[in-house]
Amino acid sequence: MTIIAGVDIGNSTTEVCLAEIKKNSEIVYLSSSIYKTTGIKGTLDNIPGIIQAIEAASNNAQISIKDIGLIRLNEAAPVIGDVAMETITETIITESSMIGHNPATPGGLGLGKGVTTHITGLPELESLESVICVVPHTVDYEEAANLINRATEKGIDIQGAIVKKDDAVLIGNRLKKKIPIIDEVAYIDQVPLGMLAAVEVAESGQTIKALSNPYGIATVFALKPEETKKIVPISRALIGNRSAVVIRTPQGDVKERTIPAGSLIIEGLRQKETVDIEEGSEVIMSIVKKITPLNDVHGESGSNVGGMIEKVRNVMSNLTNQPRGQMKIQDILAVDTIVPQKVTGGLAGEFSLENAVGLAAMVKTNRLPMEQIAEKLAKELGIETVIAGVEANMALLGALTTPGTAKPLAILDLGGGSSDAAIITNNNKTSSVHLAGAGDMVTMLINTELGLENLHLAEEIKKYPLGKVESLFHVRLEDGTVKFFDKSLPPQFFARTVIIKGQDDMVPIQAKHSLEKIRAVRREAKHKVFVINAVRALEQISLTGNIRYIQYVVLVGGSALDFEIPEMISNALAGYGIVCGQGNVRGMEGPRNAVATGLVLSI
Ligand code: ADP
Ligand code: MG
Repeated sequence: MTIIAGVDIGNSTTEVCLAEIKKNSEIVYLSSSIYKTTGIKGTLDNIPGIIQAIEAASNNAQISIKDIGLIRLNEAAPVIGDVAMETITETIITESSMIGHNPATPGGLGLGKGVTTHITGLPELESLESVICVVPHTVDYEEAANLINRATEKGIDIQGAIVKKDDAVLIGNRLKKKIPIIDEVAYIDQVPLGMLAAVEVAESGQTIKALSNPYGIATVFALKPEETKKIVPISRALIGNRSAVVIRTPQGDVKERTIPAGSLIIEGLRQKETVDIEEGSEVIMSIVKKITPLNDVHGESGSNVGGMIEKVRNVMSNLTNQPRGQMKIQDILAVDTIVPQKVTGGLAGEFSLENAVGLAAMVKTNRLPMEQIAEKLAKELGIETVIAGVEANMALLGALTTPGTAKPLAILDLGGGSSDAAIITNNNKTSSVHLAGAGDMVTMLINTELGLENLHLAEEIKKYPLGKVESLFHVRLEDGTVKFFDKSLPPQFFARTVIIKGQDDMVPIQAKHSLEKIRAVRREAKHKVFVINAVRALEQISLTGNIRYIQYVVLVGGSALDFEIPEMISNALAGYGIVCGQGNVRGMEGPRNAVATGLVLSI
């Protein structure tokens, strides 16, 4: 009798399967474990994580590590993924003409139009012109409200106000005639006076309608068709805001500049094509598809994308201690995305949504130096350690322990850095592919599209459903159902969007986005990465190029644990007549532990 440990070292996690091999070769599974991979896959830094994982599995099985007679490591697929992002448009205000920010608490309601006038100038005003007052920080809300009320009594048509401090509601409450008021305008001194301006505030929970529409702005300022064309970037930048100001200055100009992002040079075995990043992901991916298998990918030198690709190559070469020239990029996944960016020249710290391209790149190294790891592990633990099998084949063996599966079978191993696929035919022929783009890319997209600057939070948004704390005793879940609580929730949760991690474990999201927006970004990111990659991967391993040839697909890997990704992929593949679902390794492990189990089975 021997106890063996199958150890799968992945980019993100190290998994162990412990089993006893009886005299009659019968396999009795003892336990399994999972631990975060320490260091980069295939380096000696993996050892502490491997030992932790083996210890955990031994504890679960109530044996001592010393009882293990053999460790079987996977011949880890020598692929490492990385992700990067570049914006390709930029909005620049060359003169103050737009204030499109979203103060938390604007005042009043509706659309007002008039000439910008300093509030202290109101008493001298005789004109019958409509007015938008500009209120600096030196005038407090009492005084501002008084001045406006008196001017209104005198018959001056005050249509709206722009305020520096967070005073909109305080001023609004004191006014006899209600007007839309925008506050928290940081650079109020730069608001030009004597210019025609429009102020719009929508009801809470609604977004502005007039100023986010080019024809709305054209109506307010009586613009000619060619002038209307020029203000499109303004209206676009204001979409989704609850309030906005647009000022018409004689030379005022907002530009949407396209940043020269550079081009990608995609090199196949026989042909080479150059594609401009600005063409967008669809065009880039169609060229990748045409040229696959790739030999390497370069970026135009001196351009943004050039820097991005070379950075990936450098990181990989440093990590693997192999020369840069050997770091060949074997696959890329390009995704169109939208990133909130600060508008250059804005008056209130405005953000505008800029187009960007996210890129995942997969580098194939020569072969990961797994022997080093095996040697060191054997020395540290005093246990014989061997490199036992190719990752994809082991994953297939493990996946086949899912009840209800049979050959021919394809698996999609959805990890952190790469999406891998493998197929086994009736007569045990196998083939596999590794594609760039997986869980880490989804996390990056959520992080940037929501402007979170917090990868940990983005990861949690990816993994769990959302809810809205409607009272301190109940939460409305994103599917519309309601969850009640016996004890009051912490008051700071009130009215917040929260991540529902567990029965009593909720994390409030400190971002201004609505639940619906966060949910839409989350689902779209998953769709863009995993549905696209599932189809790409199956096309490539289907031997015939026609994915209808494949009938059964089992999803394994960390991202197959996701609460909505398996469903999205299944729905997409149903269109091809493919049966697809989350794996259940050994009928009990879910989509986890496939490779580790395969390593035990293959003895
Ligand atoms: P690897 O084989 O490369 O080590 P894994 O199979 O462990 O990768 O997958 C890691 C990925 O799985 C990460 O992107 C992680 O965010 C994702 N992941 C892990 N658990 C979950 C979960 N419960 N829901 C969604 N994604 C998950
Ligand atoms: Mg894996």
